[in-house]
Amino acid sequence: MAVPVFRFAPSPNGELHLGHAYSALLNAKLARENGGRFLLRIEDIDITRCRREFEEGIYHDLAWLGLEWEEPVRRQSEHFGEYGKLLERLIAEELVYPAFMSRSEIRAYIADAETRGERWPHDPDGAPLYPGMEKQMSRRERRRRIDRGEAFAWRLDTEAALASVVNPLFWREATSEKLDGTERIDAQVEAWGDVIVARKEIPTSYHLSVVADDALQGVTHVVRGRDLYQATGIQRLLQELFGLPAPIYFHHALVPGPEGRKLSKSLRDSGIRVLREAGATPAEVRGMIGIA
Ligand code: GLU
Repeated sequence: MAVPVFRFAPSPNGELHLGHAYSALLNAKLARENGGRFLLRIEDIDITRCRREFEEGIYHDLAWLGLEWEEPVRRQSEHFGEYGKLLERLIAEELVYPAFMSRSEIRAYIADAETRGERWPHDPDGAPLYPGMEKQMSRRERRRRIDRGEAFAWRLDTEAALASVVNPLFWREATSEKLDGTERIDAQVEAWGDVIVARKEIPTSYHLSVVADDALQGVTHVVRGRDLYQATGIQRLLQELFGLPAPIYFHHALVPGPEGRKLSKSLRDSGIRVLREAGATPAEVRGMIGIA
């Protein structure tokens, strides 16, 4: 069997907390136990929120925890050209459209629909689905608005994309972290509506880059938090559109914060740097999340 490839793919838009440490350590452990490779990938496409100092912090924290990864590390911000080529394919196939509505315009549109008694659908993350009026817009009008410099995002025409896919959309989810069995999960893509696949200034998005890189890096096992479980459906759709292979997925339970709450962005009691500076040892931090 081919060598399994695992990856930990943090976004450097903040400091690592116990949840990240768990994910990274679990991936490295599975790579070790299965004679596989462990990659670290920096998902820094959001150039407004990602910072070099957070990236340096990630390397420092992971090394302190005792992790080793292959070099060079893939930094997504260095590969916009590659993602742009994939976006071009979706544009040529008319599976994306420029979406011009701002956040406040979307809100107003939906509020208006709701006063007329319509129940507006929301995606699995709780965001209202995009109205998608631009799908009816003529090419000329789209061109005119783009040329005029209006803000827009490239959104997937999810209905058209689903119609263009012949295979049923599902993924294999490992039934436990032993990776000794999988179950078939049918993708619920419609629930997401027309997701953003690229921005006007950045020719990619989380979903597009993640499927591009997992394929390019030969990732065989995507092991990540349960919060990304539903997003897997969209990623499977993009893999089918681009003809990319589907890895096996395992979505692990999230590390609970204090008193069982969700780990918050405030890192007072869960940030790796904070814990280290308070005198915790790497073994103690691993003990806190139950991963030796
Ligand atoms: N970069 C994503 C995050 O930090 C994770 C991507 C993934 O594991 O698929 O949430």
